[in-house]
Amino acid sequence: MTNMKHVVDCARAAFRTGKTRPLEFRIKQLNALKRMLTENEDAIKRALRADLNKSECTSYSYEILGVLQEVDSAIANLSKWTAPQPVQKNLLTLADDVYIHYEPLGVVLIIGAWNYPFVLLLQPLVGAMAAGNAVILKPSEVSEHTANLIEELIPKYLDKELYQVVNGGVTETTALLKERFDHILYTGSTTVGKIVMEAASKHLTPVTLELGGKCPCYIDQNCDVDTACRRITWGKYANCGQTCIAPDYILCDPSLQGRIVEKIKETLKEFYGEDIKKSPDYERIINKRHFSRLMNLLEGQKIAHGGQHDESSRFIAPTILTDVTPDAKVMQEEIFGPILPIIPVRSVDEAIHFINEREKPLALYVFSNSNKLIKKMISETSSGGVTANDVIMHYTVTALPFGGVGHSGMGAYHGKHTFDTFSHRRSCLIKSLGMERMNQLRYPPASIKKMEWAKFFLTRKINTKQISLILFAVFGIITAVALKKYHWVLRGKVLLLMLPLIRLDGLSKQK
Ligand code: NAD
Repeated sequence: MTNMKHVVDCARAAFRTGKTRPLEFRIKQLNALKRMLTENEDAIKRALRADLNKSECTSYSYEILGVLQEVDSAIANLSKWTAPQPVQKNLLTLADDVYIHYEPLGVVLIIGAWNYPFVLLLQPLVGAMAAGNAVILKPSEVSEHTANLIEELIPKYLDKELYQVVNGGVTETTALLKERFDHILYTGSTTVGKIVMEAASKHLTPVTLELGGKCPCYIDQNCDVDTACRRITWGKYANCGQTCIAPDYILCDPSLQGRIVEKIKETLKEFYGEDIKKSPDYERIINKRHFSRLMNLLEGQKIAHGGQHDESSRFIAPTILTDVTPDAKVMQEEIFGPILPIIPVRSVDEAIHFINEREKPLALYVFSNSNKLIKKMISETSSGGVTANDVIMHYTVTALPFGGVGHSGMGAYHGKHTFDTFSHRRSCLIKSLGMERMNQLRYPPASIKKMEWAKFFLTRKINTKQISLILFAVFGIITAVALKKYHWVLRGKVLLLMLPLIRLDGLSKQK
């Protein structure tokens, strides 16, 4: 087994040389990562096909493109992101430099999951590199082809000491987690998330946990149900349902169930053809263990559509279950597969109650023509993120922090948020050695008067408009006094200045 201590020590020694500090170095490495993606596009697609039967187009749009976008954005914005950020001052620090300085944390660990094995590992890597850290990558062993490819490619393109890949399963990850890191970003199940957090606590290492859960999807009666079903079909069955923010179950009025089933059936045919098994766009279940787990969830359920399966190729057809009760097995855990239960509810309030009785989900979806209902759903529930009248799409807006809340995770990333996650926001105050009299306030001996002055300086809100007005008024007074006192000198100066002009004017008139 790899010597984990050696890996981390080596990365830390490289970090301590300070080579990640200059922005030019970071940009050079980010460009090398971009080259790695473009020069190995085919190999990446082949690995993803072998692991999850992803088509070339899906691999490009869902895995490679996400990393490329992130790299471009980091390169374009790095100087802005790293620039000192001035903050509001108090009266005591008015003349000082007060700002936030972004500095790298040190050696960080990124643990990826198997469902989007490329993007879930490399997207956080981009922000960690941009922030100037050394990074240890731990791909999921479950998607082994992608894991092996990443292990082969990273050292070919990036600094070998700063950025390292450790492959392996539970034993290796457990050994790795014994080491001290400056931050850990973990993507995977809530159960393992707890293990990661416990291991991190031994070193007081902060964690970002990108976990899962059951993402509810409420369909209001006042809604274009056909369009809603098309969007849900896409989000639910993409990657064979193995998406952390896929809608896990539908909540709707009992009268809508039949129409929803019909429309999803129709859309499935349109997306994947008559024989879905032959569609190049329909993925497979990652392994036999997950296949059996999913088949178990179907036991005793009313299958309104789908249910066909083939263990040898790990195929499960898109499946819809109707009249599902809250105590059904399929409602006790995150489905993470192509099974869509519909749970009838009588009103939006019942749907909200249903959602709030369970753990906070990673994403929540609501379909309605009523903006008021959408806002009600948002304000009366909680989740990592929300998309209304669509699914998944909030994930694509990199300006939005992506992450969970409660059991669906903690912390967030994407775009600048990844840079922030992997940076320490250092508070900086630079004073001059002058104005020592001001400091009498805080020096002993203490007195009521000093205390009152301190209260005045620290609690008084600085109103920049007021300060400008006062300065303007003071300047006006000084000018007026000066004019009054020295008007005869000024008059002489003005006359001297005017003289050449008067002369020039006279000459031109003579001509
Ligand atoms: P997984 O089995 O690939 O595990 C994830 C990582 O944890 C792997 O690198 C693995 O080596 C490590 N690991 C597994 N068991 C461990 C243990 N006992 N000790 C230490 N490390 C261990 O992935 P998974 O957990 O099956 O992933 C599926 C879950 O991940 C779902 O719940 C899904 O919702 C969630 N997920 C969340 C996101 C997100 O962005 N929030 C994205 C993808 C998946």
